[in-house]
Order: sequence, then C-alpha cells, then structure tokens
Amino acid sequence: MLCMRTLLFLLLLRAQPAKASPIPSEHSEEENTKIAKNYLEKFYHLQIKDYRSPSWNSTRMFIEKLKEMQQFFGLNVTGKPSAETIEMMKRPRCGVPDTGDYMMTPGNPKWKHTNLTYRIRNYTPQLFQADVETAIKRAFKVWSDPSPLTFTRATEGEADINIAFVQRDHGDNSPFDGPNGILAHAFQPGQGIGGDAHFDAEETWSTSSKGYNLFLVAAHEFGHSLGLSHSTDPVALMYPNYAFREPRTYSLPQDDINGIQAIYGPSNNPIQPTGPSTPSACDPRLTFDAATTLRGETFFFKDKFFWRRHPQLRNVELNFISLFWPSLPDGIQAAYEDSEKDLVFIFKGNQYWVMSGYDIQQGYPRDISNFGFPKTVQALDAAVSYRGKTYFFVSNQFWRYDNQRQSMDPGYPKCTSIAFPGIRSRVDAVFQENNFLLFFSGPRYYAFDLTAQRVTRSARSNLWLNCR
Ligand SMILES: [Zn+2]
Ligand SMILES: [Zn+2]
Repeated sequence: MLCMRTLLFLLLLRAQPAKASPIPSEHSEEENTKIAKNYLEKFYHLQIKDYRSPSWNSTRMFIEKLKEMQQFFGLNVTGKPSAETIEMMKRPRCGVPDTGDYMMTPGNPKWKHTNLTYRIRNYTPQLFQADVETAIKRAFKVWSDPSPLTFTRATEGEADINIAFVQRDHGDNSPFDGPNGILAHAFQPGQGIGGDAHFDAEETWSTSSKGYNLFLVAAHEFGHSLGLSHSTDPVALMYPNYAFREPRTYSLPQDDINGIQAIYGPSNNPIQPTGPSTPSACDPRLTFDAATTLRGETFFFKDKFFWRRHPQLRNVELNFISLFWPSLPDGIQAAYEDSEKDLVFIFKGNQYWVMSGYDIQQGYPRDISNFGFPKTVQALDAAVSYRGKTYFFVSNQFWRYDNQRQSMDPGYPKCTSIAFPGIRSRVDAVFQENNFLLFFSGPRYYAFDLTAQRVTRSARSNLWLNCR
C-alpha cells in the first residue's frame, strides 16, 4: 500500500489543470447561418442563387441541404444551424462534396485498366522528398491490398494520377483556403485531370501526428481518384473529416474495403484482407464493455471503439480507442473517474492504467492487486466512484474502496442485488450522473436513484447513443 500511496502522491503533483471541454465558441445566429451557407455551397451543392433571391424557395433549399448534412454526420436533423452542426462544419476535411448515397461517386466512374500509374509533380518543402514518396507509395498500397489494382510510379511522361501541392486558386475552380479547413481534394477517374489529387500547400504536412499526416490524407484522396465518394461511417477512411490514426499499424476499415471491391472486385490474393468494422450503435443487442465519465463527457467502450457523449450537445461521436490512447488495449473491461483527483482509471484483466484527463500516466499498466483485491480476482466487470468511495463489480458481487485511505473497506465483497435493489444480474458497465448510478447489464440500463435507493428507470442501453 505504501507504494501505491507514493505513486498517487506523485500523480497528484503531476496532475494538470482541467482542459476545457470542447464546447464550440458562441456565434450569433446570423454568423452561424453564414458559416452553414458557405459550407453547404462547398460540400452540398447549395447554389448561391438558391438563397440570394428573397423567395421562400431559397430558404427551403437551405433547410433541405442543412438537413442532408445533419443526416450525413448523424447529428440531430433540425434544419437549423445548431451548435453541434457548426462545430462539425469547422473541422478540417476533404474538399470533395459529400454525396451521402453510397461509397461510389454518382455515375460510377472507374478506371478501365487495373495497372495504374502515378506521378508526383512537385513536393512540399516541409518534408524530405523521400518521406513524401514513401507516404504516397504506402497510401496507394492501402488500396492495392484489397483490390486487383496496382500502382506504379512514373517520373516522366503522362500518368493516370497526378499528385501536386498547390495553393489557393490553382486553375480547377476549386480553390484551397489556406491553413486548416479544406486540406486536399481529388478528381474521379477519367482523362486529363481525372484521378488527380491536389494537396493544400499551406497546410502543415507531417509523417507523424503533428499537423496533418500526409499518408492518411493521401490515402483518403486516392479513394476519390479510384471512384469512391464519402462515407457516413465515422471510422471509414472515406469519412470526410480528418482524424489522425497511427500510420504504422493502419489497416483499411471494412467499409472502405467493401467500397473498393464493389467497383473493382476482390484482390487476386488468395487470402482476402479484412478490416476493422464499426459496431452498430443502434443494434438492439448492443452491450458495452465499460463506461466512465471524463471531465463532463461520458465514454462508452466497446471492442476497439468508444462512443463519446457530450452532455449539453447530446451528440455522440464514435472513435477508435487507439486514436485517443495508442497505448491502451482493445476490449477494456471497466473504467471510472475519480473527479476529485481528476484521474480516470481503466481496467483490463488484472492490469490497470491511470489517465490525467486524456494523458496516460507513466509507469502503467500496473496490477489490480494494488487495490487490495484477493488473488482470485483476475478481472473486473465494472467500476464507479462517488463520494470518496469506489465500487468494483465482479460477477454478482462488489468491493468498496476508500479513495482517501487507499484501501478496501472491511466487510467486502457484498452481494450487488442486496446493496443495489433492482440490479439483479452481472454488471457490464456503470457510471454516475447527477443523483444516479447508471448500470448497464446486457442490452439494458438501469438508473439507480441514490436518494431513493432503488431503480427508477430502465430502458435499452443504446438510448444513450441517441438511438430511438
Ligand atoms: Zn474526400
Ligand atoms: Zn485542385
């Protein structure tokens, strides 16, 4: 225990001030409408003439396009430029419009040959030429692995796909906008400019997580060069917004594999590659591995993924665990927040990790025996902390840990169903919100009122993910 105490003391010294939660900055309604019109013009084919004339028709077009955008990104479809809508519109993204129908570009343009060539027309001074070449080569490999396509680099003459770093107006009626905003765009398969990919030379390009990773953006753009359009699947490579993923271990998500194979057929490889696929939030059988609050938001863990719910905006975002915390494993089993110390504890098997805000602390994972569990406990089902005590659920029992004294309270484990009437079966996940403990068991949740000491509400778990 002494060791644990010293460690927590060190953690406290290292604790960082709370980061502000990402609530979008306030704009006037007029400003929001302007941002929305500009975005819809660029990415949803809203015509300027649709709203410059004062007719009722123009407003209707704007609302229709806004609803289309909200539908695409899984936001509340209100037809109004809400805070969550504006926040989504401000994210860095690809310059190609969202069609939202299917993975393929309307009209299904495709290359007639499979042995494609590419040429790098110029370089960015921000990276070594060799690094640009490697990033581009790897970005093509993402698409050649699951398909019959091959890509060969040409250093002279004509090529199918031309790659260039350009800025602002560059002669194709799709000007870039300086740093952030639009990062790149590419043209569907065809002659001339068809298939070409342009990268905004004013972005900060990198081979790491800094700025924008060239490999990730290039792999996305080459999807367009091959005939794919944007996907609504937030973990797909063809999702319009930029998200960093570790390039060294990158594997193409299943949604994109399905997209490229729908156009060109499967790979000639005897073993077809498969990619990570997204758990369906609205599957009525959905269960969670773990849940916790984190600085006002709620995180629900499932396999490689987590959903992040913002309490005011009520929007839900799906992400890879590895995107936020590269050193955490998949299949997290329990998690809780100690809000007094601003720490989050994550459990899998007999190991645990401690995060301050979003940062994993040094020296983890450690063994859960540090909490005082008997050797027979090799994994936890769920955990939650409130009023200075942490409750650890294992099978149909729970332990209670005193956060101040850093030891288990005597007299535990106790039977869950006796201490928490109404919670009869094994607990998958639990977190605290207001005066409730929210227990998740199988596909249902149970709201346990801490004052009344009973379950006052029970419903499908995925109501928390906005599934109606
Ligand atoms: Zn795109
Ligand atoms: Zn261009």
